Amino acid sequence: MLKELETEQLAELIDGLNYAQKVERSLALIEDAYREYSDSLVVANSLGKDSLTVWHMAQTVNPNIRGFIVTTRFKPKETIQFMHEQTAKYPQLRVFKNDAEIPEKLYLTEPDKCCEILKVEPTRRAIEEMNVQCWVTGLRCTEGRTRTNFREVEERDKGLIKLNPILIWYEREVWQYLAINKIDVNPLYAKGYRSLGCEPCTKIAPGTERAGRWLGTSKCGGECGIHTRPLKIQNEVKV
Ligand code: SF4
Repeated sequence: MLKELETEQLAELIDGLNYAQKVERSLALIEDAYREYSDSLVVANSLGKDSLTVWHMAQTVNPNIRGFIVTTRFKPKETIQFMHEQTAKYPQLRVFKNDAEIPEKLYLTEPDKCCEILKVEPTRRAIEEMNVQCWVTGLRCTEGRTRTNFREVEERDKGLIKLNPILIWYEREVWQYLAINKIDVNPLYAKGYRSLGCEPCTKIAPGTERAGRWLGTSKCGGECGIHTRPLKIQNEVKV
């Protein structure tokens, strides 16, 4: 495994490595983890630009690497269409969704609870059903106020390693990777969105990359919970 770095050392690498060195580092992180975890390494693919980058790198390491997509009833039609295109292209991607009844407009009254039910629960299920020991995410620490305190390799949940291989990438480097590798993206980016989520909670907004997420609520620019809540079913806590 690559030497695990402290947050301060990682911060130096954000500007200390160029694009090509970051790609090399990210691929090495995935290769190392795949060597260790084999089929129990799984990519969480949100279908956003960061996930698509990580997914492409994982497929470069080994095309048998599996992934999962968590979708909700509130995803924009463009995202649903894009999801169908991606699952047709990559049968190793599985889709998880929670269709349970919830109060109308829960996203307005209790967005944390809405995300817990519609996003965190299916993520837990994916991790359980796919026997995941190491999940790979597209999390980046340059993305917004809530994302500065992460590591490339984490074990927030006992028994579940989380690998964030593009943690130190800038947004422009993600676009660089997608352009160089001619990777299709969700057409919503062409409309001006910089971060994609459920329709009622995502706007085109000036400012930081995640500024349009949960705009106008206390959760503005925040998190749905999959990066902050326990994900192993036995570690789960109630909201
Ligand atoms: S992003 Fe909004 S609609 Fe989607 S699960 Fe979270 S609160 Fe609900």
